[in-house]
Amino acid sequence: MKRALYAGSFDPFTMGHLDILRRACALFDGVTVGVLRNVEKRERFTLGERCALIRKVVEAEKLYNVEVCAHEGLTVELARERGCACILRGVRGAQDMTYELPLEAMNLRLDAQIQTVYMAASAPYAHISSSAVAELCAYGASIEGLVPTPIQINIAERLTKR
Ligand code: ADP
Repeated sequence: MKRALYAGSFDPFTMGHLDILRRACALFDGVTVGVLRNVEKRERFTLGERCALIRKVVEAEKLYNVEVCAHEGLTVELARERGCACILRGVRGAQDMTYELPLEAMNLRLDAQIQTVYMAASAPYAHISSSAVAELCAYGASIEGLVPTPIQINIAERLTKR
């Protein structure tokens, strides 16, 4: 049984994230979506709120081999706890890879048994980021097609300034 940890801050979860998750589900026996705090980023939704939004999408998509959990500590700790053989990350371009490589090296240093694997973003979603979604909401623009439909309203209501 090979389980992957799809780790990220998912603040909030986008169509780009969902695309990677769907493809991972076809590749692994099980996928754990690990919702983590990125200390370099200001939080928009709490860890609990992000998990609830992702669970709503997982249910609507009928992704039965997915579990969603929040974690306050190191990514490798969560991977060990949930029995994940690898950490999965999505890559939109060279800039993402520049960010990912030192992270991978650090995670390997922490646990040499846990490998990081990458999936390239699919072309239709490669331009999507959580921060772009938040920025569009802040200016009252539509986020249709950028985030999964079941959670679009929740995200727009929260991030749109009144
Ligand atoms: P983090 O703060 O840990 O980078 P993110 O929520 O920004 O978390 O992203 C989680 C993972 O999903 C990262 O590997 C990121 O590169 C990837 N990702 C983000 N947006 C997309 C996208 N549009 N398509 C594919 N992968 C993406």
